Amino acid sequence: MTNSIALRKAWEEHPRYRYRGCAPDVDEPGRAAGNLDLTLDAWSGVDREGSEPQKEREARQAAAIDVCFGCAVMVQCAAYANSITAEGKLAEPEGIWGGDTALARHKALIRARHAAPAAPDRRFATPQKRAVLAAFAVVWDPYEVAERAGVDVRTANWQRSNLTTLLGLPRTASRGQLLAAAAERGLLEDVSVVADDGSVPAVPPPTRMPARPDPDPTPVTSSSQPALPEPGPYEPVRVPRPRRDRFTDIDGQLALWEAELTDLAPVHDLFPASNERLETAA
Ligand code: SF4
Repeated sequence: MTNSIALRKAWEEHPRYRYRGCAPDVDEPGRAAGNLDLTLDAWSGVDREGSEPQKEREARQAAAIDVCFGCAVMVQCAAYANSITAEGKLAEPEGIWGGDTALARHKALIRARHAAPAAPDRRFATPQKRAVLAAFAVVWDPYEVAERAGVDVRTANWQRSNLTTLLGLPRTASRGQLLAAAAERGLLEDVSVVADDGSVPAVPPPTRMPARPDPDPTPVTSSSQPALPEPGPYEPVRVPRPRRDRFTDIDGQLALWEAELTDLAPVHDLFPASNERLETAA
């Protein structure tokens, strides 16, 4: 069972607890250290005075959540506030805690109740998972996580994805949510978590691998490979077509319309050789 009291203690005894965003400012005690425009009750419940206009409330909550995302103890804060008490309720059912409104945290609780149960803690006991988780608590660039954990990038990314699944989180979970869930299960003891702006995904994008080397690096010489013409803009070649008139005069040709048919010589006079062959055949 989650121990809310122990988680609250871990939050309050964190070495950077006094630097939390919602702490009273040293010079202006009525204002929040993370944003002097906010009073200390900016993190309070849904409706501060019973008549807060919706737009004002939304602006106030957005500004408070913004401070949470830069808070040094956001992970520990979320782990405590969202832990479940012996009565089965949120440890902090009202107000903004760990960068989430009460409504968002209640919705997450309902989703978690309907989701598949998370893996038992012994599934996290492998040294590699612990090393990746500890590295991920401090840095979030995939290459830096791999370097700190002493594994290659693919293994580190796979373990990040694996941890997300084991903690019962959706694939769209952020790094902060993963670390909060891990802290809630006591997996981040003695680890100082470095907060991010809330936009870092728990499951990293696909690894960028270097291009494969060319298996046959023999250079192509000009003698072995014919040079290709330089590419240029396409210009169709226009070949002039011979002009054709319907009627063409040829020297020596007798045009039919220039002579009367009666003036024409008989065919056998025009072709005497053919005429001789016809007579022989007859
Ligand atoms: S994360 Fe928690 S401790 Fe930090 S500013 Fe937000 S409410 Fe305060």
